[in-house]
Amino acid sequence: MTAAPSLTQTEHWQHQGADHMLHPFGDSGAIGREGARIITRAEGVMLWDSEGNEYLDAFAGLWCVNLGYGRQELVDAASKQMSQLPYYNLFFKSATPPAVELAGALAEIAPKHINHTFFTNSGSEANDTVLRMVRRYWDLQGKPEKKTIIGRHNGYHGSTVAGASLGGMSPMHAQGDLPIPGIAHIRQPYWYGEGGDLSPDEFGLLAARALEEKILELGPETVGAFIAEPIQGAGGVIIPPKTYWPEIERIVKRYDLLLVVDEVICGFGRTGEWFGSDYYGLTPDLMPIAKGLSSGYLPIGGVMVADRVAEVFKISGGEFNHGFTYSGHPVCAAVALENVRILREEGIVDRVREETAPYLQAQLQTLADHPLVGEVRGVGMLGAVELVQDKASRRRYPEEGRVGTLCRDYALAEGLVLRATGDTMLMSPPLVIKPAEIDELVAKTRRALDQTLAQLQKEYPAGA
Ligand code: PMP
Repeated sequence: MTAAPSLTQTEHWQHQGADHMLHPFGDSGAIGREGARIITRAEGVMLWDSEGNEYLDAFAGLWCVNLGYGRQELVDAASKQMSQLPYYNLFFKSATPPAVELAGALAEIAPKHINHTFFTNSGSEANDTVLRMVRRYWDLQGKPEKKTIIGRHNGYHGSTVAGASLGGMSPMHAQGDLPIPGIAHIRQPYWYGEGGDLSPDEFGLLAARALEEKILELGPETVGAFIAEPIQGAGGVIIPPKTYWPEIERIVKRYDLLLVVDEVICGFGRTGEWFGSDYYGLTPDLMPIAKGLSSGYLPIGGVMVADRVAEVFKISGGEFNHGFTYSGHPVCAAVALENVRILREEGIVDRVREETAPYLQAQLQTLADHPLVGEVRGVGMLGAVELVQDKASRRRYPEEGRVGTLCRDYALAEGLVLRATGDTMLMSPPLVIKPAEIDELVAKTRRALDQTLAQLQKEYPAGA
């Protein structure tokens, strides 16, 4: 459709989008009527839209631009690889230098017992691959009935059929008859929201023991794996109490399950360690990765595979009938390899652990005294600010989600990109954010909170 000459460039793009594009995780009708924000440029931690407005991206795109925007080395790596070999695949006994070099680099930074990667294009495909691998692994072990995978309510593992099924997002399950058979869910370790009067440690044990109960209910001989994010991201930056993971590991070992730790968000320095598994001292069998693997510059993901699983595939597996045209795409792999090189050579993960994350967390805690704020929590470069009507009882405002959306929109007007999950504001800035930019992030968040509160006070006068 040709744009009318009177349209501005922004209006033209908005109309084109409204007329021809359906949005992921969006109401395309409403977005079409209201007009999408068109992001055109980025540098460091800053974004610009087509109207010239500037935003501090406190969300690193979608939890992924770990190195920040505008790293010329990544552009050069892509360009060089494109000239030399823009595409070849890993099927039928082929390989390419970037894919094998990347697999080697990943083995160097992963926990010691993990030395193989199966490449995909995204986190969702990584989790689809997890489902195939778990089932295949137990087939090869002569236990084909050990098929069920247990995930968690409010966990997120992607948007493909298997990814959405492994995740525990009820709005996703409601659209498309999910989960598929062979997947079960247990409660999440969300102390602030569900812990009631229990201490975090007591609640952590309770939430972990839900896994044992579910295994016993289903029959241990039918359960093949447990999947979880080290820290739930999309669910609301939910940080498990410190008793949670050790108890989960005890249960997983006792009932001979594979442990799948979804590192799509927590991987590549987000927690101040290379992987969330390092942060919690976990020994995963499978580790889905994506996002920070390439800092989002090109799509690439994978499943990192522990030696004990990889050996089974290599010794008795024969052909694995699974893969993607672009598994280990050479240009994406070259960019990921360069991304990992920069993270290592510039000591970015160490800097996050020693300096940037402690500063971010300390500054975020200054928001805890705000009347709207029930809890501020965070690990590494992940943060969450829960908005409530009553701090003591942790009661939220009616119509959960509306306050979070209000606050997100005020933040945008302040030039700050935050995400809202329900009434929880989430942050996950690029790992390279500087102290002055953290100050700006926190100051803008406070102004957005003030404006949200002022609006709510009009709607709910005198503590109504
Ligand atoms: N796992 C986790 C933990 C994620 O956060 C996401 C994406 N937010 C995915 C998997 C899916 O990744 P993708 O969107 O690349 O398919």
